[in-house]
Amino acid sequence: MPCQIMDYKEKNGHASGYNYYRMGMTDAGFQSAAKELIEFVVKYYSNLSEIHASPSVEPGYMKPLLPASAPEEPDKWDELFRDFDQIVMAGLTHWQSSRFFAFFPAGTSYPSILADILIDCCSCIGFSWTSSPACTELEPIVLDWLAKAIGLPKIFIYDGKGPGCGVIQGSASEATIMTLLAARTKTLRKLEVKYPGQSQHMLLSKLVAYTSEYSHSSVERACLVAMVKLNKVLVDENIAMRGAALKAAMDKDRKDGMIPFYVCATLGTTDCASFDNIAEIGQVCDDEVWLHVDAAYAGGSFICPEYRHFMEGVEMVTSFNFNPSKSLMVNFDFSALWVKNSVDLINSFKVDPVFLRHDNQATTIDYRHWQLPLGRRFRSLKLWFVMRIFGLENMRKRIREDAQHAKTFEKLVRTDDRFEICFPVHLGLVCFRLVLAGECDNEKINKINQDLLNRIVDSKDIYIVGSRVRQRFHLRLVTGSVGCDEKAVKFAWKTIQRHACSVLRENK
Ligand code: PLP
Repeated sequence: MPCQIMDYKEKNGHASGYNYYRMGMTDAGFQSAAKELIEFVVKYYSNLSEIHASPSVEPGYMKPLLPASAPEEPDKWDELFRDFDQIVMAGLTHWQSSRFFAFFPAGTSYPSILADILIDCCSCIGFSWTSSPACTELEPIVLDWLAKAIGLPKIFIYDGKGPGCGVIQGSASEATIMTLLAARTKTLRKLEVKYPGQSQHMLLSKLVAYTSEYSHSSVERACLVAMVKLNKVLVDENIAMRGAALKAAMDKDRKDGMIPFYVCATLGTTDCASFDNIAEIGQVCDDEVWLHVDAAYAGGSFICPEYRHFMEGVEMVTSFNFNPSKSLMVNFDFSALWVKNSVDLINSFKVDPVFLRHDNQATTIDYRHWQLPLGRRFRSLKLWFVMRIFGLENMRKRIREDAQHAKTFEKLVRTDDRFEICFPVHLGLVCFRLVLAGECDNEKINKINQDLLNRIVDSKDIYIVGSRVRQRFHLRLVTGSVGCDEKAVKFAWKTIQRHACSVLRENK
């Protein structure tokens, strides 16, 4: 197939078919700026051990440094890039730094960055097949690749026909909202047939969704958006939602005249990387209850067969989601959602104005019906680039390496009896806290650990965050930034020990 840009050049003698003012720069100006920018990117990634994770700026630092209005006349690239370097970089939290161990990682890689450049180059908005055929056609192909790579059952694979299929959402939160709203619509339509004459408002007030006490806050938010009740199910000693507890909660609600319709189970909780038991939960969810799995962080690890036992029972779930933008080197935003029956999504969100219709809509995927916004970026290109340039074996290597770094840190913590490991270490998350010999007052222990965290964060030596499970506050260290290696983990441990010494001294 001929390259269209080359064709144009041959016919017209120059490479671009636009006036430079429409693009903001001349071709030569763009090439020179882009060269400088790529050099900056390479330097950034080769310096990750020198870059502090947390910036030393105070709230409001930026306003006095920038003019109050946009320039009437063009600024020069050099001046803009200098301001970026001096003003913006100074206020960034550097998620790829060797000293960043907070939240869950933000995936990135050179192949993903390159794909992003091309996505921005073509700037197509692929909401329907006709609005950009390649955009629509690459997405189910790479999501089939990914589904196979993580061992999802065949029923989630599109393979050119469906009804199982993947769709890229912006975030795990969106995936939860989409599936919750689809489940709500599906249930309400059934109830309207079963109880003719009942108002939709009354039926809606009967719907209940379920999740564990330790699922992500986005589940609670999705229920606020959907205006349905949320029942938080108690977890077992491993912080896992179990089938029996879920069943008991549902039975009680049914007895009270309520209608269970949606369950969100988590594989890899944010607080402590615990795993709900979906093999049991799947047995409890009948055809009337949509079972969604939020594996935002842990899902990427299932490319390694040794982690797949955590998703035993996945053949029973209605939808499954995880973020390659956390653990699989794809830049944010990218959240992969698979549904067993895409008709459930399409039927819930389909509106079809004349200006969006096209001749091929009966035979092609129109992703506009699978998401809340209309417009969508060509995000599948990022995953395609990452999977091809890394290859699955290198992607697995990266997951195992991150887990190994967490194990290294866990071992270090266990050498110091002033600390305890709070939960079994899964993947790249280690939960730990100071324990005080002879001290049983949990609030006092919580306070010391909060003091320790504050001190670490204020020092800006490393960046970690804390969390709380069963009234006990703990610190979380997460491996997985690009800069993370064994040296970085050892540095983190030394830093934590040093701050612990001063906190313990002051609290004597
Ligand atoms: N679910 C879990 C288990 C998470 O850990 C997170 C974020 O870390 C989310 C959902 C929210 O992810 P997103 O930012 O993609 O909405």
